[in-house]
Amino acid sequence: MKYVSTRGQADVLDFEGVTLTGLARDGGLYVPDTLPRLSEQGISNMAGQSYSEIALAVIKPFVGESVDDSSLKAMLDETYGASVFRHSAVAPLVQLGPNDWVLELFHGPTLAFKDFALQLLGRFFDHFTAKRSQKLTILGATSGDTGSAAIEACRGRENVTIYMLHPKGRVSDVQRLQMTTVLEPNVINVAVDGTFDDCQALVKTCFNDLEFRDQVGLTAVNSINWARVMAQIVYYFASATALGAPGRRISYSVPTGNFGDIYAGFIAREMGLPIDKLVIATNSNDILARTLQTGSYSSGDVHATISPSMDIQVSSNFERMMFDLSGRNGQTISDYMRSFAAKGSISLSDTEIAKARDIFLAEQVDDETTRQVMAELKDSTGYIADPHTAVGLKASRQLPAGGAPRVTLSTAHPVKFGAAVEEATGSVPRLPAHMADLYDREERYVSLPNDDQQLKAMIVKGQAV
Ligand SMILES: *Cc1c(COP(=O)(O)O)cnc(C)c1O
Repeated sequence: MKYVSTRGQADVLDFEGVTLTGLARDGGLYVPDTLPRLSEQGISNMAGQSYSEIALAVIKPFVGESVDDSSLKAMLDETYGASVFRHSAVAPLVQLGPNDWVLELFHGPTLAFKDFALQLLGRFFDHFTAKRSQKLTILGATSGDTGSAAIEACRGRENVTIYMLHPKGRVSDVQRLQMTTVLEPNVINVAVDGTFDDCQALVKTCFNDLEFRDQVGLTAVNSINWARVMAQIVYYFASATALGAPGRRISYSVPTGNFGDIYAGFIAREMGLPIDKLVIATNSNDILARTLQTGSYSSGDVHATISPSMDIQVSSNFERMMFDLSGRNGQTISDYMRSFAAKGSISLSDTEIAKARDIFLAEQVDDETTRQVMAELKDSTGYIADPHTAVGLKASRQLPAGGAPRVTLSTAHPVKFGAAVEEATGSVPRLPAHMADLYDREERYVSLPNDDQQLKAMIVKGQAV
């Protein structure tokens, strides 16, 4: 499998190359040059298989020759085994109504869906760095959940140092503590005076400084890293086949921030999974919903909400989506991104927007409505949803009740957003046993202003020690 940049100028790489590179050197994102299609028979066979067997069938074509079959199988068995995911179904479906399902993606070590991809990515890093005797510096930005999942996936790994930026004071207590109480010396948490978009921009600046990038061996764990998107494709196949695909079409509602999770759903559909509609569910940071409504992708101010992992107004993976919508034309995307950098907006063509509307629906859900959904759900079913999931559930109601089964991705455990859950439902979710003493653990982090020079200096200095 070969990978090309969405901006058409960077080297073509194999899976090992894109996993270790993250952002392409022309500023674009790596995507497979052609997508594998699974046969109807191949998809049928997944019904009743274990999560890791399904993962092998979905992931193998993307990994190609980069990892031998037995190592890949061992990695997947370990990642999606009982020592990492605390539910034996790994990604269980829970029924909330006649045609309504929640896909619980929060049974991994840090209680959000990001463990699905990052636990695997950490093992790929180990495999490739050992093979090459190479050291990696991982730099990431987090609106909360990526950070803890990436840190958990990298802590103590011999050839890896991880720097994780979070917007100071803008992540929940549980989210912060899950990161800052990891004290292994290869983990450096950085609290930035700014928003998540500022953190993400700092990361991009570091990656675009090619000299710095080579000097410290920089790699990404944000969903700009293709391997993350790839791992997330699997649960669409696992859940759809459990509900009757390929004999039946399935629709998904996806709480969306950086567009990584829902883009994985789009790829699953392109690979032959009969997904009917994908609903982009956003909070009041609604750049994606506005894009679908108006055809113009234009950033706005970031608002703090009770679903902070979606407080994002520039969705990096949307570039991959535009690449597909534009007929996979690197020049078009390069021009679009230049226009976005200069004017803060991109006007999609009529064909592009029509293609998007054929597949996607969108809805923005404000905090008040999110709380109502959480309260009503608890009253009618006893189920406690976290605020991100509640945004997804509200948006899923746009889909016809008697049509394809409606599956909402539950992206986080309610305890991660305990204060919002308690306010809306009166229930106080409890930390699982492996995290019961989280509030008593020692914390460690560095504070930095929103300044790339200071960040780079710190990383270079760390490298020298
Ligand atoms: C990261 C995250 C999202 C957004 O996912 P994207 O792939 O960035 O769209 C939604 N909910 C939770 C709980 C998250 O951690």
